[in-house]
Amino acid sequence: MSLFSSVYAARNAEVRAILDGVRCPSPRRVEEVLAHSESSASLSLAELAEVLQIGATEGADSDSNVQFDLLRAHTRRRWRAPSGNRVRYVSPIYVSSFCVDACPYCNFSALRKDTVRYRLSLAELDREIASVLARDARVVELVYATDPEYDTRALVRDVSRAVRAVEDLEGGGVLLCTEYLSSQAYEALADAGLRGIVQWDETLDEQAYARWHSASPRKADFHTRMDNHDRALAAGLDVATGALFGLADFRYDALMQVARARTIAEAYGRSPFVMGTARLKPIGGRELRLETSVSDRAHETALMVYKIALPQVGRWLQTRETFAMNLRNLLDGDVFTYSCGDVQPGGYTQINTTSVAGAQFGVNEMERGFVERELASQGFHIDFGWISPAKARALAAR
Ligand code: SF4
Repeated sequence: MSLFSSVYAARNAEVRAILDGVRCPSPRRVEEVLAHSESSASLSLAELAEVLQIGATEGADSDSNVQFDLLRAHTRRRWRAPSGNRVRYVSPIYVSSFCVDACPYCNFSALRKDTVRYRLSLAELDREIASVLARDARVVELVYATDPEYDTRALVRDVSRAVRAVEDLEGGGVLLCTEYLSSQAYEALADAGLRGIVQWDETLDEQAYARWHSASPRKADFHTRMDNHDRALAAGLDVATGALFGLADFRYDALMQVARARTIAEAYGRSPFVMGTARLKPIGGRELRLETSVSDRAHETALMVYKIALPQVGRWLQTRETFAMNLRNLLDGDVFTYSCGDVQPGGYTQINTTSVAGAQFGVNEMERGFVERELASQGFHIDFGWISPAKARALAAR
């Protein structure tokens, strides 16, 4: 098995050296780099760092507005046609909000004593799955906090139920969002029909990671967690990776994620199926004390850099952001979800309270008809069943 930890030190040193000397490019230089990105060669991390620097240069009347506009025009010309664009839909189903970890940016943190917690029974899980399928969803993501009740056997049991519910639906599939697991767990889950995992690295900046996660008994293990995508890939699963912007320098996080995605593609012959783009936001009405803030300009630049660096990979635009923000950033093939079940167990069938006291973080839940009309006005349609059957056959032959 190839492990990202074996190249981490080299990539980390390379990215830090690049960022030490990077300057915001002139408009002419931006045009040069973007033209290069259309040739067969992929842009180097140094070239991508220059583009990212556009996002780090702030100010409404900043000179970098011209560069930012060039970037926007380029990505829209290449990946957003006047019509026929699709967004891939995923329905997250929260199964448990009990957590032993203590991430300060999450309302499920064990240290938050006023969070209303819930764990779905099997019958309730079935009802949640039926509820999202009745709304046309075909790709479901089972989401768990670090709840000790969910060992491999329990996860396999839940995944198997979800797989049975979607297996006859064209393009249907089951994804899983948990903390890191063992190779044996991923093999058992792949055998149960799981198609992929969703896990953000949070940040690959080890010191920043420790500042945010040292109080988490399980998640604090930066090194074991770093190779989690490799364990899942080696078991035949697809992976979504990404950073949580705001934990460290967004330029570092974006470049390290590109390096990680390229390493995955080389080692396993397939890229991540999506890049996560989450950005830290207030939770449950409470502000976070951020050491590093990521402006809209910085965030949108990072989204465009992901697409330029990894044209074959979509981005997962987040309901933590406003719809207006998402609408102006969507490109063909991105993942987008307008309803997340209030990011808490039982959210679709109203089992638990739907107050913010039970939600993982704040989201913008939206009404489907409104979203479809707005998307259509920009040339997008929603693809509810996008998981390839070819992969199912490959797994069956494992
Ligand atoms: S982000 Fe995940 S691990 Fe951290 S507190 Fe929230 S649910 Fe637990």
